Amino acid sequence: YYEQIQQAERLKTTGQLAAAVAHEIRNPLTVVKGFLQLYEKNILPSDQSQKRHFSLMIEELNTAEEVVSQLLSIAKPSKDTEVEIVDVRAALQSVTELLHSYGLLNENKIEINKVEACYIAANNMEIKQLLVNIIKNAIEASKTGDSVTLTAKRKKDFVEIKVMDQGRGMSAEEIKSLGTPFYSLKSKGTGLGMMICYNIAAKYKGSIDFQSSKDKGTTVTISFPEQKL
Ligand code: ADP
Ligand code: MG
Repeated sequence: YYEQIQQAERLKTTGQLAAAVAHEIRNPLTVVKGFLQLYEKNILPSDQSQKRHFSLMIEELNTAEEVVSQLLSIAKPSKDTEVEIVDVRAALQSVTELLHSYGLLNENKIEINKVEACYIAANNMEIKQLLVNIIKNAIEASKTGDSVTLTAKRKKDFVEIKVMDQGRGMSAEEIKSLGTPFYSLKSKGTGLGMMICYNIAAKYKGSIDFQSSKDKGTTVTISFPEQKL
C-alpha cells in the first residue's frame, strides 16, 4: 500500500516536471514558429523589423538550448566528477576571471575580498559550476555599477564562502521558491540554476543560505566541511 502511494507520488512528480519542461520548451517554439509562418506567407516586414525578428528567434532558441543543457547536467552529471581537493581561493579566482566580461556588460565589478587559504573535498568542476550560477545571479540582480563581493574563510570545521550583492534583493517568499525547477523572475531565465546548486551542495554535505532584503541586496552563504591538508 505504501509502495503504491510512493509510486503515485513519483509519477506525480515526474508528470509535474515533464509539464514544466514542456512549457519551457514550447514557448520558444511557438515564437519561432509564428515568425516562420509569417515569412512563409511572404509577408515581409521592413528590414529593421526583420532584424529584430531574427534576434528574437535566436534569443528564444538560446533559452530553449540552455534549458536542455542544464537539464542534461542534472540528469547525467559529467564523467569527471571524482572527489578532489578543491582550493577555494583558486576556484574563486578562476570563476571571477570567467565572469569578468559578463559583469562588464552592466559595469559590475566582481571583487575578491578577504579570502583565506581553505580547501574542500569535492569535484572542482562542480564547485565552479555552483559558484558560477550564484555569482551570475548576483550580477543579474545588480544595478549598473554595483559590485559583487566574494569572501571565504574557515569557521569551525567548515569553509564559508560568501557572495554579496547590492542588487534587487528577495522577499522571504522568493527565497522559499529558490531551487524549485523553473522558478525564475527573469525574462530570459531558465529557473534551473539554484536547483543545480542545491544538488551539488547536498552531494558534498554543504549548504546554501540566503540573507536578503528587498532593494538592498543579498548575501549568499555557501558552506562546506573543511578539508584539512
Ligand atoms: P534563473 O537565474 O535562470 O532565473 P535561478 O535558479 O538561478 O534561475 O534563480 C531563480 C530566481 O531566484 C531568479 O530568477 C531570481 O529571481 C532569484 N535570485 C537568485 N539569486 C538572486 C540574487 N542574488 N538577488 C536577487 N534575486 C535572486
Ligand atoms: Mg541563475
